[in-house]
Amino acid sequence: MTFNDDARIDTSKVQRRRGGKTAAIGGGTLLGVIVLALASQLLGGDLTPLTGLVTGGGSSAQEQTVAFDECETGADANQNDECRMAGAADSLDVFWEDQFSSGYRAPGVILYQGTTTSACGQASAAIGPFYCPADESIYLDTEFFAELRSQFGATGGSLAQMYVLAHEWGHHISNITGQLGQVGNETGADSGSVRLELQADCYAGAWVQAASSTTSSSGVSFLRPVTQEELADAMNAASVIGDDAIQEKAGQTVNPDSFSHGSSEQRQRWFQTGYQSGATACDTFSVTASDL
Ligand SMILES: [Zn+2]
Repeated sequence: MTFNDDARIDTSKVQRRRGGKTAAIGGGTLLGVIVLALASQLLGGDLTPLTGLVTGGGSSAQEQTVAFDECETGADANQNDECRMAGAADSLDVFWEDQFSSGYRAPGVILYQGTTTSACGQASAAIGPFYCPADESIYLDTEFFAELRSQFGATGGSLAQMYVLAHEWGHHISNITGQLGQVGNETGADSGSVRLELQADCYAGAWVQAASSTTSSSGVSFLRPVTQEELADAMNAASVIGDDAIQEKAGQTVNPDSFSHGSSEQRQRWFQTGYQSGATACDTFSVTASDL
């Protein structure tokens, strides 16, 4: 997905932190963990592991918030990963505000390097992107974006980055509607966890469809219409992060009882549902197990 060059970006919706303590790097095994984590945590590290997040550490004394002076237009967003996140956040915020007649509030979006502190514990690259309901904020490690680019290529990488943000924003929407609060740590093919994750995929699809008609403060739409190739990239990204695909990649037997995010087929299908029918079609909690 590409921004219109002259779209104007309001960067106040994203916070950039620098100078957090660098996560300790261990021996060779850690690399394997990170590589494996990449697939599972593209959209998988969010929410459910929150109770297991590393606690303690506190925020670093050196950590500081850095302004986004270089991100002003869609052209900047097309060039720079952090500006792209700021632009996508602006677009998501405008889109979702429009979906609610009342009660909408924006999530915090924190871009960090190394580690930072959240109300759900310490965030680090090993945990991957996640949404913390306790402070209603999305945490994204910027190094992760480079990993996405290497995994999905230049075009697919940009879209995958925005897909991650749109998915996490979807968790915030489920939090506002109260559905997130009803889900615990259960797993299984038709568990609340899977329904919540598929809902976030559906919400992401709804935004992708609407993104080219969502306008920035300059009156220009944020994004150009999504191309068939980009849509195929999104489907590919959704496929790679299905629980079955992740288990197979890890050399495990596919076990639906341990699913927390849904299968590759489900994740693609719910993204498509949102893309074709909009956010109102995303009530994954009301469908029967066989329709999930
Ligand atoms: Zn998720």
